[in-house]
Amino acid sequence: MSNSPATLYLPSEAAAKSAHVSGMAAYEALVKEAATDYEGYWARLAREFLSWKTPFTKVLNDSEAPFFKWFEDGTLNVSYNCLDRNIEAGKGDKTAIIFEADGGEVTKVTYSELLAKVAQLANALKARGVKKGDRVVIYMPMSVEGVAAMQACARIGATHSVVFGGFSAQSLRDRIQDAGAVMVITADEQVRGGKQLPLKAIVDEALADNACPTLKDVIVYQRTGGKIAWVAGRDLWLHEVLQGQSSSCEPEWVSAEHPLFLLYTSGSTGKPKGVQHSTGGYLLHAALTTKWTFDLKDDDVFWCTADIGWVTGHTYISYGPLALGGTEIVFEGVPTYPDAGRFWKMIQDHKVSIFYTAPTAIRSLIKAAESNEAVHPKNYDLGSLRILGSVGEPINPAAWEWYHQHIGGGRCPIVDTFWQTETGGHMITPLPGATPLVPGSCTLPFPGIQAAIVDELGNDVPNGQGGILVVKKPWPSMIRTIYGDPERFKKSYYPSELRGYYLAGDGAIRDEKTGYFTITGRIDDVLNVSGHRMGTMEIESALVSCTELVAEAAVVGRPDDTTGEAICAFVVLKRPRPTGDEAKAIAKQLRDHVAKEIGPIAKPKDIRFGDNLPKTRSGKIMRRLLRSVAKGESVTQDTSTLENPAILEQLGQAY
Ligand code: ATP
Ligand code: MG
Repeated sequence: MSNSPATLYLPSEAAAKSAHVSGMAAYEALVKEAATDYEGYWARLAREFLSWKTPFTKVLNDSEAPFFKWFEDGTLNVSYNCLDRNIEAGKGDKTAIIFEADGGEVTKVTYSELLAKVAQLANALKARGVKKGDRVVIYMPMSVEGVAAMQACARIGATHSVVFGGFSAQSLRDRIQDAGAVMVITADEQVRGGKQLPLKAIVDEALADNACPTLKDVIVYQRTGGKIAWVAGRDLWLHEVLQGQSSSCEPEWVSAEHPLFLLYTSGSTGKPKGVQHSTGGYLLHAALTTKWTFDLKDDDVFWCTADIGWVTGHTYISYGPLALGGTEIVFEGVPTYPDAGRFWKMIQDHKVSIFYTAPTAIRSLIKAAESNEAVHPKNYDLGSLRILGSVGEPINPAAWEWYHQHIGGGRCPIVDTFWQTETGGHMITPLPGATPLVPGSCTLPFPGIQAAIVDELGNDVPNGQGGILVVKKPWPSMIRTIYGDPERFKKSYYPSELRGYYLAGDGAIRDEKTGYFTITGRIDDVLNVSGHRMGTMEIESALVSCTELVAEAAVVGRPDDTTGEAICAFVVLKRPRPTGDEAKAIAKQLRDHVAKEIGPIAKPKDIRFGDNLPKTRSGKIMRRLLRSVAKGESVTQDTSTLENPAILEQLGQAY
């Protein structure tokens, strides 16, 4: 398997010059600083990027490894760092959030206004008895109120756990119970794609039959005024609890190790786990990566399209950009409403300069643009853009090229950021004013991150040879534990055979010449066909490179008597789902295409066509379910995070 760079994209000279990390020499210098004095490097950044109430004297405490502590005797407050200190620096009247509602209404909120909202809500939470360390579940639409709720929890030292508004009552109940939450903050309804969808009714169902005995209050933000049921003594309107609350609230100064939040992972590979994050180390990496990876400057308009229910929305909406005093977009709606030009129109209207989204969104918008001229990005002025980002899944080179050309006008670097809920922020990513780009590669570790590729026993593998992605040293924003299950934390991330390295769960390969990383898929997704090891990603990219036909593809293995494993591909075409002879002909064409791109060994044995693929609610392909479909089994695994269950049956059909 080779991933030699086909094309290298260099940062423009002007961009490189003005970037926070300017040129590869600057990148190398940071890497060297971290290698020479690891703790000193992080301590320097923690002093530069954060305002501490009590300065820390200890940097890393590894005495209880793998339960690491960073900056533990320092105290600070996240909300102070994101709001008050920007106002003290003269940014009170600067726009913090440009909120665009599903229907297109725009509201702007300055730093002073946001602080007033947060402080009032923080006071209201305290008045309801919420204390430092209590868990508060936030089940809200994308809104200023949602961000403010997170910040308000941080202000009083409560630990929030945001649950994505697309989750069912059962999933919400599991998370409330697991977290032992005392309060849920929700809305009457949410609005997505012109439709009003219930939130409060789902909370009611989750809490029915006294299923969550720790829970005392439900606070309801009135978004639509739709009709909802009301439980007296438990339910409270947000606007009523805010009444009479002061708009100033002394922050609760907490230890750097105080848990800022719990967040359940997307569930692509199994039952979601409650990932616990710290205050100091987490905020440091949120601010640092926002500044270096996105090169955020004072006049930028930053837009991360993730939902606050995912870690990307935490780090790159609720915390990172605000910690730097930036201006950002918060978007309530969906990319396809009122049409699939919505993102491009919003970039044009708000003069967005940094745009960060997921491959799943890009792939679906490519498909839309190619079938409908009217929503093609060429109809919009995207000249304000200067940096693009991608996160959540590997981005296939074909999608990368389209994003680069049609959205970035050929001039914007794409930062393909590899990271996880557990890592808190970017781990392997280009820096836009430094790193030459290769489509499909997340390039090099963020300065200070000791990413490496090893075999099953933790031995380094040479470049050009695939293996297991690990991080050799603890870093400030890492997961602290799985809430309530420290044993599962150790087993999942620090298995004893890996010499104390953090196990990411992904496979990767480094390029022989450049040392660039390419993620090859989850560890479970490496296929062994007649003794040849292949990443599912490579075959998927080959399929998607048949750009006139294929919109999306997912590849899994199934046991095979002769070859060990056989390759099964699930494909979404840019045309309607074919059946019968047409399906057979297209399948043959795709097999030949893969043979030409990679080699005959990589030809999928089975190709199935679907209108879509099974995805998590965050838009990631759930290959573990496809593995069951490929084997012809019925799916018996946890499907609580699956967005579109009906698709499994369709993909199970032969033609
Ligand atoms: P679970 O851990 O419950 O199975 P999940 O791993 O999908 O769910 P997340 O933390 O949201 O939950 O996703 C992290 C994973 O997403 C990474 O481990 C990796 O597989 C994938 N990923 C994220 N960004 C990239 C990227 N830029 N390139 C390749 N893969 C990526
Ligand atoms: Mg994961």
